[in-house]
Amino acid sequence: MKAIVVGSGAGGATAASELTRRGFEVTILEAGHPFNPLTHRVSWLSPLRGTLLLNDEDAIEHIFPHYQVTRTSEDLVIFTGVTEGGSTAISCGNMVRAENGLKEIGLDLSQEFAEIEQTLTIAPIPRERWRPLTQQMFDKAEKLGFSPQPTPKVRTPAKCMGCGYCELGCVTGAKWDSRRVYADLLGRGIALHTDHRVKKVIVEEGRAKGVLVSHKLSTERIDADAVVLSAGGVGTAQILRASGLPASDSLWVDVVLTVGGIAKDARMLNEPPMVWYAKRDHYILSPYFDLLSYWFHKTWRSVHSEDRVGMMIKLADTENGRVNADGTVAKSLTDLDKKRLEEAKAEAREIMEASGVTGPFIDGMIHGGHLGGTAPLTREDVETMHPASLPKDLWVADLSLMPRSQGLPTMLTAAALALRVAKRIAQEKLTGKA
Ligand SMILES: Cc1cc2nc3c(=O)[nH]c(=O)nc-3n(C[C@H](O)[C@H](O)[C@H](O)COP(=O)(O)OP(=O)(O)OC[C@H]3O[C@@H](n4cnc5c(N)ncnc54)[C@H](O)[C@@H]3O)c2cc1C
Repeated sequence: MKAIVVGSGAGGATAASELTRRGFEVTILEAGHPFNPLTHRVSWLSPLRGTLLLNDEDAIEHIFPHYQVTRTSEDLVIFTGVTEGGSTAISCGNMVRAENGLKEIGLDLSQEFAEIEQTLTIAPIPRERWRPLTQQMFDKAEKLGFSPQPTPKVRTPAKCMGCGYCELGCVTGAKWDSRRVYADLLGRGIALHTDHRVKKVIVEEGRAKGVLVSHKLSTERIDADAVVLSAGGVGTAQILRASGLPASDSLWVDVVLTVGGIAKDARMLNEPPMVWYAKRDHYILSPYFDLLSYWFHKTWRSVHSEDRVGMMIKLADTENGRVNADGTVAKSLTDLDKKRLEEAKAEAREIMEASGVTGPFIDGMIHGGHLGGTAPLTREDVETMHPASLPKDLWVADLSLMPRSQGLPTMLTAAALALRVAKRIAQEKLTGKA
């Protein structure tokens, strides 16, 4: 039995390895190139900071080619990792169960979460590795009643240098990313083709038969018994639309805004990002040096990295975005999103001020990088894990299935969804039980 998995991020890697384990011959088609950490670029980037070359987010893709940057409205940009490992390769390594909206549709992923977690080393960064100011902000947040907690991280502690550059890729290989999920299956059940962008799904007689994929200047058709889209919230929706299939105008992105303040010698880049977080009703607050705002956002320019302090807000936003067949995305902040961001900014500032951080307090770039909701599961779909709007033998195994925004790290959820989908595919295709 042959399966095509489109994308090698959290969802694709998990689906591919599970299908292989259950006897499928799997081909992963990945649009991006093999991943190389981008951290070495920082040394030549720093002198350019503040020049026209790094004027805005348009420069990000040129300097950090594994990032795909899409402006979706005047007030929002979205980031995707287009590379082997997808967005996991540029993640901060935070690993939590994000389950917002699952109960509403009757989906319990506890089994899949547990299965994945037991294969990984997940633990917080020990407090003694946090910068003194970060410890102080944690203590103040606790006193102020925000109930902060250390963030679970997925990494190999012995290899972690504790730098602040996780999102540029890990030079020591300490941080987990989804490439590890299938590494030992390459050539032993999984064939991986990078630089292969899937254009559309071929549907004949009501069934998915394969995909049309472009590589360099050629386009070819590849057939399979099952086609699994794991191209992420935007990539999957783009392929669906280009194939004449429905995608839902309910993209969510978990909006991020980092409030910047100043503290002499804070040196936040000498610790991993987001070592603790405080969970609020609709967002989290977490100490974070916003690398991309530091280099590419005009208003963050005035302060040197040693003295820049950031408190991230990650907001569960309104699910209202649309992805088009050409990959353009329309999504803006709603009044409710803006109101919640204002509340969160006031809290971020309160914690920073209580810890001796001074202003001016300046907003970083407003962006989103947890992309989901474009092929949302409904209560009726949960049994089969197959959105009813899709033809037979076409599956989605990524965050697109998640109906609600999270305001929390999402890799584990994308992987858990994909694991459940892969189990269902195997059940249906190998045992004939629908
Ligand atoms: C900067 C950043 C930091 C993050 N940090 C964290 C964190 O610390 N913890 C956490 O839990 N989450 C984090 N996330 C979010 C997390 O990485 C994603 O939610 C998760 O990886 C989503 O999994 P996915 O499989 O849906 O998509 P992805 O992991 O993005 O994978 C999609 C894959 O599909 C490929 N693709 C797209 N289109 C095509 C096509 N047409 N043909 C072939 N391949 C295609 C892409 O190249 C990519 O490899 C972060 C995200 C970003 C952007």
